[in-house]
Parts: sequence; C-alpha cells; structure tokens
Amino acid sequence: MFLTRHSSYVKYSLICLLELIAIIALLQARSAQAYTAYKDGGPYGSIGRWAGQSATYSLTDSFKYSGSGWSSTGTGAASDWTNSAAPFSYYLNQNDINDILDAGPFFNNTALAEAYNHYTGNYLDGLHIKVNTGNGYAFYDGTQPGGNPVPDNYYDLRTILRHEFGHTLGLCHSYTNTLMDAYVDLKQVRGIDQDAIDGTKYIYTSTTTSPSGPCDLWDGND
Ligand SMILES: [Zn+2]
Repeated sequence: MFLTRHSSYVKYSLICLLELIAIIALLQARSAQAYTAYKDGGPYGSIGRWAGQSATYSLTDSFKYSGSGWSSTGTGAASDWTNSAAPFSYYLNQNDINDILDAGPFFNNTALAEAYNHYTGNYLDGLHIKVNTGNGYAFYDGTQPGGNPVPDNYYDLRTILRHEFGHTLGLCHSYTNTLMDAYVDLKQVRGIDQDAIDGTKYIYTSTTTSPSGPCDLWDGND
C-alpha cells in the first residue's frame, strides 16, 4: 500500500500494459473496472472495510507544521473524499488516535507515503497515514511558488493523501493511471476519480460489480 516514485522502466511497462488493457476493454466491455478491493479482509494481505461508512482522523503537530500548507492539504484531501460521490466520509477530530504523520525518513523503502489499517476481527477500526519526509522528496502543499498546478520537482501532497485515504477505507491498487495506481509521477495531480468511487461503492453499498482482480498491495516495486 505504498505510493512510490516512478522509475522510467516501470513507467514504460505500465504504458504497455495500459495499451493492452485498453484494447481488451474495447473488444469486450465498455465499463471495465480497474479497482481492486476486499469487502472482508484479514489483517495482512488484504484490507477489509469499516463497519460504518465514515472514519475520523487527526493531524499530528509534526504533520501540521511540516509546511505552511500541510494542515489545509491534509484536511482538504479528507474533504475531497467526503465531498465526492464515494459513499465514505472522513471527519477531523483532533482528539482521535487515527492520525496523519510526518514520519521523517522511511528506513526500509523509498515510498512517498504509507497507510496502516487496524482491525478488530474482520472490520477496520483504526488508521494511520505516514508521509516519508526524510528521503529528499519535495511535497507541494499548495503554497510553494511556480505551481501550474504543481511546481517542477514536487510531488503533489494532496494527491498522495487522497491515495492513502483510499487505502484506509479499504481500496487496494489499480494499475490504470487512476488515483489508486501504485505509482505517481512528479507534478501529477489525481482526484477522487470514477475508479475510486466504483471501488468504494463495491465495498460499502454493493452497487457496482466485482473488482477486476484480487487485492493488490505489494507490487514488486512498491
Ligand atoms: Zn498505495
């Protein structure tokens, strides 16, 4: 469930795969779904779902003061989910133990951020999102100059947090240049797209058909 930077090799491979998927989709179906998800997961290798359709979260001090725009970016990413057509909402509660962290450097991988879910039985009841601020990545928080919409050499923090919030509600990875794609490029901006909405509806309302594949969280490059 890591959101990682692209390598050029991986990017090329993804493009080839996308072309293949597009051709198959044209031949077989007009509305192929790409999300992967589990409705009822175990504590490892799959995600599961919350008993309800919302979760609360807090922003740690380290996160809030990591940059002048981090606080509004964090709450903004959560609000993007709440205000979307996806049937899941996030609410800020600064007393909550579900938190969003500036984690400093990750020691074991080069991911931009990670999401951790907590379970009781098959249901989710806790979340943590950690941003990797110690490996030299520059995160655009909406305040740095030169954005159009994101300045050169920056990763869009709000996009990354939207992705991690997607994991914490139960979405696995997609590989179709959607929000839940395991990879993101510099300057890339992704909103709560139809793939993410369809996946969330599958988990929480069963109004979409099954995912296109098994829950993928541990891609070889993430
Ligand atoms: Zn991910």
